[in-house]
Amino acid sequence: MKPVSFQYHAPATVKEAVDLLGALPNARLLAGGQSLVPMLNLRAATPDHIIDLGGVAGLNSIRESPTTLRIGAMTTQRAIERSDLIRSNCPLLTETVLHVGHQQTRNRGTLGGSLCHLDPGAELPVIAAALEAVLTVEGPSGSRTLCFDEFPAGYLTTTLEPDEVLTEIEIPKAGADEGYAFLEFNQRPADFAVVCVAVSLAFEGARVRRARIAIGGVDYAPIRLTEAENSLRGETAGAEAFARAAAVAAALRCEGDEVSPADFRQHLAGVLTGRALSRAAERAGRT
Ligand code: FAD
Repeated sequence: MKPVSFQYHAPATVKEAVDLLGALPNARLLAGGQSLVPMLNLRAATPDHIIDLGGVAGLNSIRESPTTLRIGAMTTQRAIERSDLIRSNCPLLTETVLHVGHQQTRNRGTLGGSLCHLDPGAELPVIAAALEAVLTVEGPSGSRTLCFDEFPAGYLTTTLEPDEVLTEIEIPKAGADEGYAFLEFNQRPADFAVVCVAVSLAFEGARVRRARIAIGGVDYAPIRLTEAENSLRGETAGAEAFARAAAVAAALRCEGDEVSPADFRQHLAGVLTGRALSRAAERAGRT
């Protein structure tokens, strides 16, 4: 099928995009189009106006501050994949983005679009959850920031106001005492994840100082395993501690479907969490 007819707008600034969003009824922002265009073709989205962010200055950048990376919402997944700055400061993101679709879709798909589309099987929202990303959003009353855990509102739904644009995603740089791992299970390479797990472990000597575990594919948005994270704090890395954390993941209440039922996803969550914790500890030189 083809999309319903719509009027196309190509703003040059964020303010113009925000003004258009506020003035035009039934308008949708277009980023890389790798989710929105299929939805238009399926008539799952029938906007009267499309506001293309492709020409808006300042949304496609990767910058650093002393402790964080600041990634523009329109930065493509391919640019993230190829960024040395990201590879050396947040290798977890580099490892994860390789699981997102195909190189062709990553050439167009953006970080901001993936977070705003919020597919339950998308990998980048899981990283945003694990790294406690801070999102900057621009609206008619200026800009505001929110933690990623305040962003999901429901299935394919975020807490963005209808006249707001996501402009930047800020994530912490990894420390020297940290290990990371991203693992996923899917039916075919480049598919969305059935279940995926992102882990970041920070150590003090042999003991875990801080654990972050985020799981995707088990609910409408990523879930942080705070109970398992707390159980790891102060523990030495090892099979016993990781098995306890994996058991928390395996007990998660999961949403399933006829292809991958809830109990299968629970099993995957437990297995992938245990493996990701071991790999993260290994990368931190703690096992
Ligand atoms: P778009 O499709 O342009 O927009 C997505 C949604 O976000 C729209 O509702 C749009 O209005 C909104 N939006 C976009 N940018 C902003 C912004 N700055 N502020 C506010 N709202 C905004 N994704 C995965 O995670 N894993 C996969 O394995 C995967 N496989 C794929 C395979 C194929 C064949 C294809 C076509 C896509 C696949 N995708 C996958 C989806 C892809 O990663 C998309 O890039 C992503 O979901 C959306 O990013 P986008 O830039 O294309 O956004």
